[in-house]
Amino acid sequence: MKLLVANGYLIDPSQNLNAGKNLLMEDGRILGLLDRSEPAPEGAEVFEATGLMVAPGFIDLHVHLREPGQEYKETIATGAAAAVAGGWTSICAMPNTDPVNDSAAVTRFIIEQGQRAQLANVFPVGALTKGSGGKELAEMGEMKKAGIVAVSDDGRPVPTAEMMRRAMEYARGFDLTVVDHCQDSSLSAGGVMHEGRWSLILGLRGMPAAAEEVDAVRDCILAKLTGARVHLAHLSTRGALEAVRRAREIGLPVTCEVTPHHWTLTDEAVSEYDTNTKMSPPLRTLDHVGALLEGFRDGTIDAIATDHAPHHSDEKALEFDQAPFGITGLETAVGLAFDLVHQGIISLERLVELCSTNPARIFRLKDRGTLRANALGDITILDPQLEWIFDVSRSRSKSRNTPFDGRAFKGAAVATIVAGRVVYLHPEYAKITASKQTELAAGR
Ligand SMILES: [Zn+2]
Repeated sequence: MKLLVANGYLIDPSQNLNAGKNLLMEDGRILGLLDRSEPAPEGAEVFEATGLMVAPGFIDLHVHLREPGQEYKETIATGAAAAVAGGWTSICAMPNTDPVNDSAAVTRFIIEQGQRAQLANVFPVGALTKGSGGKELAEMGEMKKAGIVAVSDDGRPVPTAEMMRRAMEYARGFDLTVVDHCQDSSLSAGGVMHEGRWSLILGLRGMPAAAEEVDAVRDCILAKLTGARVHLAHLSTRGALEAVRRAREIGLPVTCEVTPHHWTLTDEAVSEYDTNTKMSPPLRTLDHVGALLEGFRDGTIDAIATDHAPHHSDEKALEFDQAPFGITGLETAVGLAFDLVHQGIISLERLVELCSTNPARIFRLKDRGTLRANALGDITILDPQLEWIFDVSRSRSKSRNTPFDGRAFKGAAVATIVAGRVVYLHPEYAKITASKQTELAAGR
């Protein structure tokens, strides 16, 4: 089966490509790029992409899919459906399920459920320690054979530097990236929001920025000691980004991601006690937001990840203190990333680098994050000008915990192609496409 994405504008930072060309796929892989003037190959289905940007498929390094164990919040299939609706062709599933993904059996289960859904590619991340308990190393080798792409105890910080050192040494032997949720729990224990002026006003227990920064510095020092590849998850503070910047300056293999909510909102959003503003790490102050924007500009930030964390509305209806941490994010991330483009903070090329090229490199996902011939046919098609409003009641996720319901966006992923198959078309765009195709058919 052949699919030709015609008349689009190709953006591929992996080969410095920025050109109006046609893209041909066959049997799930990219066959090559054609000039627009070349006729469509015989038997090829044509996806008309005039006025649209065509990018290598977006890869979300950080999602929580809740299956196995908490399917009432999200299943692998509903999470993958939300992913493709948000423009993500691949998602990496954190191991804090029930049971924790600390074995080949759970890893295989996640992969099988992902394949069954036939939507986004689902790549499991294995636990660093057994049950993510922070005491005994998990069987990384067995899980790697079964298909994990990285290791992490995300959700539960690795308690001691000694444990993290051993985990890094072990992971290095299997060529696995270590992902850390930087949070020193001796500093953050009991906290429900950022520690600062607003936590004082609201009478809520705070988590200081230092809790993240202490662990980020620790991890960079241990990356030097062990030589392991280290990826710092959802960074939200000035000091943590500074640690990454310093580590990079001396050539350490340290990378980092940030989430859209951390650069979009501040801790002031908590003032209504809306539990959809409760997440870990918490929303920070304007100064930290400024540091994130600086990190986008100077290249310190490698990737945009959602930290999609679905929770049932009954749980989020609890008091702020009691409600669980986290929000959904798969369907709003690309729209929020476009804000950065429209504000002139990043270019379109940099957006693609943050959402595709770099994530593929960080987790060593072979033949992804590029439009080169023979790469897998995962494509995200973008309309930077499309204006739309997010309506959470139409979300494909099982959960509704988002602070972005009703928000207006400019720019969206309008089509998602996985292994050469169109798995999602934006509803607004479906109308436009239909009329455009009719026009073409009528020879107008
Ligand atoms: Zn986390």
